[in-house]
Amino acid sequence: VMYRGRVLEACAAKDLFRSQHPYTQGLLACIPRLDDEVGRLNPIPGLPPDPRQIGRGCAFAARCALRAGRAICVEERPELESSSGGCLAACHFSAELTAEEAARPVAVIERLPKAPDAGEDRASKAPLLSVRGLEKRFPIRSGAFGQHKRELRAVDGIEFDILPGETLGLVGESGCGKSTTAKLLMRLERPTAGSIEFDGHEIGALRGRELRLARRGMGMVFQDPKASLDPRLTVGDNIAEPMRIAGRSREERRARVAELLDQVGLASHHLHRLPDEMSGGQRQRVAIARALALKPRLIIMDEPVSALDVSVQAQVLNLLADLKSELGLSYLFVSHDLSVVRHVSDRVAVMYLGKIVETAPSTEIFSAPRHPYTRALLDAVPAPSVQGAVVRSPLQGDPPSPIDPPSGCRFRTRCPFATEHCAEAEPASDSRGAGADSLVACHYPLESSGGPVPLMLSRSLP
Ligand code: SF4
Repeated sequence: VMYRGRVLEACAAKDLFRSQHPYTQGLLACIPRLDDEVGRLNPIPGLPPDPRQIGRGCAFAARCALRAGRAICVEERPELESSSGGCLAACHFSAELTAEEAARPVAVIERLPKAPDAGEDRASKAPLLSVRGLEKRFPIRSGAFGQHKRELRAVDGIEFDILPGETLGLVGESGCGKSTTAKLLMRLERPTAGSIEFDGHEIGALRGRELRLARRGMGMVFQDPKASLDPRLTVGDNIAEPMRIAGRSREERRARVAELLDQVGLASHHLHRLPDEMSGGQRQRVAIARALALKPRLIIMDEPVSALDVSVQAQVLNLLADLKSELGLSYLFVSHDLSVVRHVSDRVAVMYLGKIVETAPSTEIFSAPRHPYTRALLDAVPAPSVQGAVVRSPLQGDPPSPIDPPSGCRFRTRCPFATEHCAEAEPASDSRGAGADSLVACHYPLESSGGPVPLMLSRSLP
């Protein structure tokens, strides 16, 4: 485990989860997990120091909660030595940690805010965003002269709602249509068919000024904050740009930028920096501030934390939770990381080959998935564990081409429960005996006990 150019801990991989170094423990505590209680994450405080300013002592001293304030940590560089957990750790105190200290919970569990309507009857609430029959097909030409025309069905008739104050997680493998869906909602892509109703108004077919006005109710945060900010504009100008385009006065922009900096946890001295002078986490905070500039009600986030390291990821996830409860925001959270999605979402929609195959409250989908694909995705998540590295059999094969999807159920070519009927008839999205909030598109949905036979078997790595 390295930190600022130095090895702070070295051990057999299976011993890492019994780590005795405060930095390693801090990293482990930042990771949202499928097998843990959902709560506020516990990021390592502060940022890594400038390598030119690391003194004689421990490089991690300024951020270490274990022996904060001890003079020896600042004055003397610890060498790699055997710790009580069987690892080599560069910490003055790792060898004398008591069993209680070593086993102390590193994450403070504090419940995240839930959607105001969570647990109530969703059908009686007016959605903020309502998507019906949404399609996006891209024309493909092949042949020497482009004479063969076919279509890639990136998004193929999906439906979902997001209530005010609710977070919907959208998950699936790469290429399943998640990011295209996010772009369609923001109208960065034009839908081929279907309706997008936002705040009671149809926006699917809008153009020009009407579209720009409608978009002000939504913000978007992209995966790579470096690519989504203008490198020539200062942080302040990047945040103010949507307001300038919307015709807000200079005074209004200045006051709002100061307010936004405060809301996303940046200081006033960041205002005049360029994005390249900020860390990855700070840049994503700038991108979030920019998305909030016009006071939207819905933020669409496309893999917003996948480019960040785990500690910064935890800081940004906590920030998103705070903003949601302070401002009553709704989120569409697109991610392939199921642990993160479980952490942030009230509801989850699972996409496969352009279709939504399961939608349900987050608690249900992670405890009792009903679609074989959802279950296979969950089975494929490796759990960091003191029992050692355990991996599960991954989903076999690649998804079929969206240009020529299988007949009937699109998952049938990879599904262990497929029958002839699955090839003949496409399963409709239906509650199939579960609550009205849960929809599954499968002819033979799994029972809440986990299905008729084990789908995937765990095995230890050799
Ligand atoms: Fe598997 Fe058939 Fe269900 Fe599709 S409809 S997921 S092939 S069991």
